[in-house]
Amino acid sequence: MSLKAVFLDRDGVLTRERTDYVKTPEELEILPGIGPPLRTLRDGGFRLIIVTNQSVVGRRLTTHDEIGRIHEKLKSELKRMGCFVDGIYYCPHLPGEGCSCRKPEPGLILRAAEDLGIDIAASWMIGDKEIDLEAAKRAGCRGIRVQTNLGDLQNAVSSIIKAGEKGWEC
Ligand SMILES: [Mg+2]
Ligand SMILES: [Zn+2]
Repeated sequence: MSLKAVFLDRDGVLTRERTDYVKTPEELEILPGIGPPLRTLRDGGFRLIIVTNQSVVGRRLTTHDEIGRIHEKLKSELKRMGCFVDGIYYCPHLPGEGCSCRKPEPGLILRAAEDLGIDIAASWMIGDKEIDLEAAKRAGCRGIRVQTNLGDLQNAVSSIIKAGEKGWEC
């Protein structure tokens, strides 16, 4: 049986977006208020998968190793809040490099779905930018936009849960 997931953008949705990029674990700041809505999604049977553009690597402002440490910190802080994350997928490339993973390309969502056995049509993407919604559309899941750095996931999560109660067929 395939699983449903909510794909989550990182910067501006779960963590504070910085104009100078998150380059170290110390610079990673979890937005307040995201724990309860994420737990609601898990309780609703959704896998949680983070899909994030990190051109900060391509710009040589940080390294893959450091991104690994940043994501270990993110996973452990979310776990402390009772929110287990199934995976974090990132695109390290620069805009204009022509990769298939930098959102609005759907590559990250497609790869995660393949790895984890996710039914994309039963899944959602929550992001704070048009490119997140575009990636969702190209991958074949539904998308919901939230405001950057506000941690206002609650409305988005309520819409997702409500849609599930109505059933997928309507
Ligand atoms: Mg973002
Ligand atoms: Zn890429």
